[in-house]
Amino acid sequence: MTSTRPALDALVVGAGPAGIGTALALASIPDLTFGVLERGQIGQTFLDWPEAQTFLTPSFTGNGFGATDLNAVHPETSPAFSLGVDYPTGREYAKYLRSVCAHFRVPVMDDAEVTHVSTTDGGFALQTTRGDVETRALVWAGGEFADPRRPRLSGNSLTDHSMDPASWPPRTGHLVVIGGYESGIDITCHHVERGTHVTVVDGSTPWDAGTGSDPSFRLAPRSRRRLEHARASSRLTLVASHATAVKRSGDSWVVSLDNGAKVTSDSPPISATGFGPGLGPVVALFETRPDGWPALDNDDQSTITPGLFLSGPAIRHGGLKFCFVYKFRQRFAHIARVIGERADKDTSALEAYRAAGMLTDDLSCCGVECAC
Ligand SMILES: Cc1cc2nc3c(=O)[nH]c(=O)nc-3n(C[C@H](O)[C@H](O)[C@H](O)COP(=O)(O)OP(=O)(O)OC[C@H]3O[C@@H](n4cnc5c(N)ncnc54)[C@H](O)[C@@H]3O)c2cc1C
Repeated sequence: MTSTRPALDALVVGAGPAGIGTALALASIPDLTFGVLERGQIGQTFLDWPEAQTFLTPSFTGNGFGATDLNAVHPETSPAFSLGVDYPTGREYAKYLRSVCAHFRVPVMDDAEVTHVSTTDGGFALQTTRGDVETRALVWAGGEFADPRRPRLSGNSLTDHSMDPASWPPRTGHLVVIGGYESGIDITCHHVERGTHVTVVDGSTPWDAGTGSDPSFRLAPRSRRRLEHARASSRLTLVASHATAVKRSGDSWVVSLDNGAKVTSDSPPISATGFGPGLGPVVALFETRPDGWPALDNDDQSTITPGLFLSGPAIRHGGLKFCFVYKFRQRFAHIARVIGERADKDTSALEAYRAAGMLTDDLSCCGVECAC
């Protein structure tokens, strides 16, 4: 990867779990030339996580019995085993990603931000802060953290996003949290546990959500348990209304609700309203679905730019969301196989991912339904 523009078979952008996982799958294809570009360091997003933030999907070493650790990015690895914890912090998970890269010798170039991508006759030309590079296939794994979603309401710039470091130090008095799904309940419980009175506002009441068993649509068991404790503390109020505006009033922040009520926060309200797809310099190379997510074909490839693949939590197929590691890792080996076959390489080693429960190539059988 130098400014003399060698043509690689594949280039992955982003060294988070999606990028490293896809690179590991590519590494099992003999003679395929590939690399990973990362604007910071391996696991940069996790290094940037607030210190108190932990995974909500538990890690456990079931690999030997065909139940690969939920947070693993390679069938033969387990964060629970290498870190000795079941709910890793960001720093711990970044350490796991670094050790996997070192063990499998994944070629990652740090401090290489991709600033521009254009299509060429044979693939893609990338401009990066460390020089230009060309590749035949491109996998975008830039993650969602650079694309925080503020709520659509007037005064939203007066709020802190739940992933801003400013959201985590202890708050005094009353605090309003806008958004009551995983990240909203997580930061709410964090502050209630430290003595703050918190009001969560969300008209879709995700804390009550449904009977379905898919954690993309329902709070994880650990979050539900934390919520029960917070409710029992009498420092938590859950309000089934959407926020419509935030205004300063003296030393306070007043949040107006669509039921006509107002709630007051003694410090900036926290927006826990999620993230967008974070496509950065490749945004124009994807079509957008009506719901705002990138349109993909059955190979997780852009519907308008052949050879450009998406790996990570922004993958959507119909109503299916691949927003957790254990979901989007199902596609690493599939993407790698499509790239390998186009480069006329032997991709048979990727079948090992299927045996480890880490390869879904038939999307029609995806879905989570549990009888009990
Ligand atoms: C609060 C929170 C908690 C979560 N908890 C869980 C959980 O418990 N379990 C779970 O499975 N999932 C969880 N998720 C989902 C989470 O988003 C993903 O699991 C994971 O971070 C996504 O991995 P990724 O590799 O796609 O993105 P990231 O980990 O964000 O990696 C993307 C990488 O790309 C780099 N990059 C971006 N743009 C460029 C560029 N232009 N050039 C070069 N490099 C670039 C970034 O620096 C970064 O290192 C959580 C998400 C949030 C917000």
